[in-house]
Amino acid sequence: MTTKVYIVDDDIQVAELLAVIVEMAGFQQQIYTTSREFIEQETCSSDIILLDLNMPDMDGIEVIRELAAKTCDASILFISGQDSGVLHSAEKLARAHDLHVLGSVTKPVQIALLQQILQDASQLKENSANRQNATAELASVDELTQAIEQHQLLLHYQPQVCFQTGKLVGVEALVRWQHPERGLVFPNLFISVAEENGLIVPLTGEVIRMAVKQSKHWHQSGLNVQVSLNISAENVTSLTLPEQLSDILNKQHVNTSLITLEVTESSLMGELVTSLDILTRLRMKGFELSIDDFGTGYSSLSQLHRIPFTELKVDQSFVMQMDVDKEARAIVKTCIMLGHELNMKVVAEGIENETIFNALKQMGCDIAQGYYIAKPMSADNFDHWLSRYQAQLQADNG
Ligand code: C2E
Ligand code: MG
Ligand code: MG
Repeated sequence: MTTKVYIVDDDIQVAELLAVIVEMAGFQQQIYTTSREFIEQETCSSDIILLDLNMPDMDGIEVIRELAAKTCDASILFISGQDSGVLHSAEKLARAHDLHVLGSVTKPVQIALLQQILQDASQLKENSANRQNATAELASVDELTQAIEQHQLLLHYQPQVCFQTGKLVGVEALVRWQHPERGLVFPNLFISVAEENGLIVPLTGEVIRMAVKQSKHWHQSGLNVQVSLNISAENVTSLTLPEQLSDILNKQHVNTSLITLEVTESSLMGELVTSLDILTRLRMKGFELSIDDFGTGYSSLSQLHRIPFTELKVDQSFVMQMDVDKEARAIVKTCIMLGHELNMKVVAEGIENETIFNALKQMGCDIAQGYYIAKPMSADNFDHWLSRYQAQLQADNG
């Protein structure tokens, strides 16, 4: 299906300039200088809409409402001469209406940036169409129960490196499901199923056992690497978790300080007293504690004050946007300062390019994680990656 780009802007000069950029990027385009006329159009899911927020007949916010009423499934990019705060609010509103939003750009529009967004958008559609075909279905409870019992779950490890020295300091263990028919299934298709059907405790148990075994293996082969694990809300309601965890580690002779437990802010929303009890005892037993996806949940600051976290992971949505979005950059910078004031290490995840890596390094962020360094991979592939990475690092350092 070919992608058509609809340009909705009352300023004909701007609209024509946009049309040239769109055509140069290889897309068909159509200009509308009034929103009403545009609203009558049929769009399809592969189409893209460049929408000026400030239109005289019907402003961008009203257009969002109309598009939502038509359950429009095209992708929208907001354009405005107004400050980026207004653009963000428009984005949020559109997402709340379940519209697909590509982002927003301020006028004057940077040609290279717009072309990049258009290319990424059509690439993304292709990828998600492919991925959906392969594995879109949520796991069934029975299948998942069996998968846990039959050890079909495995871990992939994503490297974390020190910004200043480039050295590997840790890995995040991320669960995968090697499904007999569907192939490798990602956690977005089964973690919520496990959480909602009483399977997260056995699932986390399996993850902990695998990660501790791997940690022991690395330690024995001389690699001192911190292993981070994700734990869910349900896990921090079980008062015996600290004992269960330290038992598994003791049996394998792995030191608790080598394991970091990542919890998200939203998982701490439930029983506050219980989670505070559990997390404090985990910390007392020597585990490192990390607050994951920081900045997206609720009451972030009071969580930091109450719970003895040792690490703060800035949410990837801010990191990914920081080269194009001033506000995202300001949030990341503030999180780094906040983490350091509270004596925490700060990790940035979702680093996809060198520009963002360098900006974070300059801001004094401690640990880097993201596709720019490496994607999550199996333990075997990790070992190969590490030899190549270390050789390269040595060569770079002369
Ligand atoms: P998370 O803990 O925030 O993990 C980071 C996710 O971001 C991982 O996705 C990782 O592959 C992805 N990521 C890392 N760097 C980049 C990047 O540069 N670009 C992009 N686009 N993505 C990046 P994954 O493995 O699909 O995991 C998704 C989520 O599933 C995790 O988010 C975590 O909340 C949950 N999860 C994963 N493993 C477990 C587990 O063992 N237990 C529990 N309870 N949840 C888990
Ligand atoms: Mg995590
Ligand atoms: Mg995260």
